[in-house]
Amino acid sequence: MSDSLLPGAISDLVAAFSALPGIGAKTARRLAFHLVDAPPEKSRQLHRALSRLDTELAHCPTCGFFSRPGEACVLCASNRRRTGQLCVVGRIQDVLAIEEAGVFHGRYHVLGGYISPLNQVFPEDLRLVSLQERVEAERITEVILAFDAVSDADYTAHYLLELLPRTVRVHRIAAGIPFGGELEYTDGITLSHAFTLKRELPH
Ligand SMILES: [Zn+2]
Repeated sequence: MSDSLLPGAISDLVAAFSALPGIGAKTARRLAFHLVDAPPEKSRQLHRALSRLDTELAHCPTCGFFSRPGEACVLCASNRRRTGQLCVVGRIQDVLAIEEAGVFHGRYHVLGGYISPLNQVFPEDLRLVSLQERVEAERITEVILAFDAVSDADYTAHYLLELLPRTVRVHRIAAGIPFGGELEYTDGITLSHAFTLKRELPH
C-alpha cells in the first residue's frame, strides 16, 4: 500500500480509521488528511472525546445502557419511567431508536447482542442472569422483546421464553420490521407500529 510512504504519525491514523466499520481505505485516508490540514483544535477535540471514552464511560450495572463509571444510567435513575414492564433489546443503539420513536416509556434491559453459536456468542456472554434477577427484584409482569428480525434474535427470543418465569407475559414487537431488518435503521413510524402490534409469545 502507498500508505507505507507516509510518516508513521499519519499512516497509524489511517490504519486506525480503516479499522472502523464502514470506513474503507480511501475514506480513512481522506479523514486522516483532513485532520492534518485542519486547525489543531479539531484534532484536540477528537483526542479529548476519545480519551473520555476510557475514563468516563461505563455500562449501567442494572440495564447495560451507557452510564458514568459506578453510576446508574439516566434511564434507570429516572423516576418518571413506568415500572413493572421491561423492554429487552439486543444493543444500546436499539434503546436510542425506540426512545427517538417515543413508543415506550418503561425501563430497558440491553442484552449486549443475541445468542449466536456460529459467531461464538453464548448465553453466558449476554446479560441474562441480571435480567432474571431484575424480573424478580422489580416484580416485572411483562417483557417486550424489541429484537431485530434476524434468526439469532428469534433463537434468543425462544431461549428467553424458557428462561423467564411463566408468570411473566412475553411480547415481541412484530409487524413492519422486514426480515433481516435492524431496529437501528427502522424509521420511527414503522417502529411505533411494531410496538402497537406486538404479539404475545406462547409461554
Ligand atoms: Zn440503566
